[in-house]
Amino acid sequence: MTDIRELVSEMADEVEKCVNCGFCESVCPTLPASGFRSIMGARGRVDLGKAFVNEFAANGRNTLKIADSFYSCLDCFACLQVCPAGVNAGKVSEIGREIVTAHARTDANPEKPVAGMIVAATMKFLNPLGVRKKCTSWSKGLEFDRDSSTILYTGNMYQLMAYSIPLGKMERRLGEKATNFMSGIIAHHPAAIRLTSALVDRKMRRQMDIFLRNIYTLLRASGAGFNYLGEEEPYPGTFIHDLGYRSNFMEYGRMVIDIFRKHGVKTIITVDPHTYDILNVQYRKYFSDFDFEVAHYMDYLGKVKFSKTSETITVHEPCHFVLRPGSYSGPTDLASSVARVTYPERSGRRTMCCGGPDELLFGKLSGNISGERFAQLKATGAERIITACPICFTNLNKDSTVADISQLLVERLQAETAPVP
Ligand code: SF4
Ligand code: SF4
Repeated sequence: MTDIRELVSEMADEVEKCVNCGFCESVCPTLPASGFRSIMGARGRVDLGKAFVNEFAANGRNTLKIADSFYSCLDCFACLQVCPAGVNAGKVSEIGREIVTAHARTDANPEKPVAGMIVAATMKFLNPLGVRKKCTSWSKGLEFDRDSSTILYTGNMYQLMAYSIPLGKMERRLGEKATNFMSGIIAHHPAAIRLTSALVDRKMRRQMDIFLRNIYTLLRASGAGFNYLGEEEPYPGTFIHDLGYRSNFMEYGRMVIDIFRKHGVKTIITVDPHTYDILNVQYRKYFSDFDFEVAHYMDYLGKVKFSKTSETITVHEPCHFVLRPGSYSGPTDLASSVARVTYPERSGRRTMCCGGPDELLFGKLSGNISGERFAQLKATGAERIITACPICFTNLNKDSTVADISQLLVERLQAETAPVP
């Protein structure tokens, strides 16, 4: 466990740069979505960080209510793009969550039972809902190169969406009290999490299986050879890290690395922005022996021939791609090479998060954010809305015009290779 003084000092380094201009409030999605409660916006989080640092310096402890403000931050880093002082309220929140999780479990900041449940189940099953086996359904009948040191790594991310939607709905139906009670029980008996898998959204599961098979088809068209770990494939541990459970994450990440080593993996082809980001940034930061090459499947598609279309599309650029240092523009580059792109009001370095990261802990807030983002995308008048992340797809999937980029690309690949009549 990290020493609390170290965390407080990290937080102080970040918040002390703030000149209180408020620019970050203009782009923080959680501020309007919460009805403009300042504590639920970027500047409010930085101010809370300052108050926390001051209180800790004066009393050596914390009595402030900090959990909801820091847990509801989406980690989108939109605030960092506009801050003249280079403050990252997302980083402040990340440190804040770790402080709450490891050091501040008081009446003012109780642990979020849903978070405890997810972490306990992930540690036990290497999958947040204990459904690793079910996450292989997309690969039925497909062939893989069993001796290859390159793997197609889904991280179970697309597949989990079919389970997380009904879980979120159930939470809202049960209400906070009953959900917390149930989550508390499951946190102590993680095997019970498997009961929730009965709530699967079958239509979404079929949809996600199609997207993963699309990705397989695209990679094959590129000529790449790759293996797939099937039932042994672990979830990357993103929730554990993002919820601030650093000591669990250190233990979990070691298990993931051991699985990669056991299978002789050298190159990891990821399929979503969260996995790409956590492996490239957090695993490299915390595990000095994490020496795998990490790519995204779109890196392999440069030489694949796609037929162009006159269809107009708009692209929802994932914050975990474009708002991170070393911004990755693969989806936008590919989409604009095959179709006519019309950009939404917020795009590029000002893209807006879909609200997905708040879905399980702050469902209403998440719904308000996705509603706002969907309206921005619809306002472009494009025929289709293209996403490049399973969480974004799920949160923005409000009508039949929303599609994963793998769908668009496979259509253009098939149009290119179809025999001329
Ligand atoms: S934009 Fe930066 S300097 Fe301005 S209030 Fe926000 S964190 Fe502070
Ligand atoms: S990271 Fe995103 S949600 Fe968090 S404070 Fe910054 S803009 Fe707001």
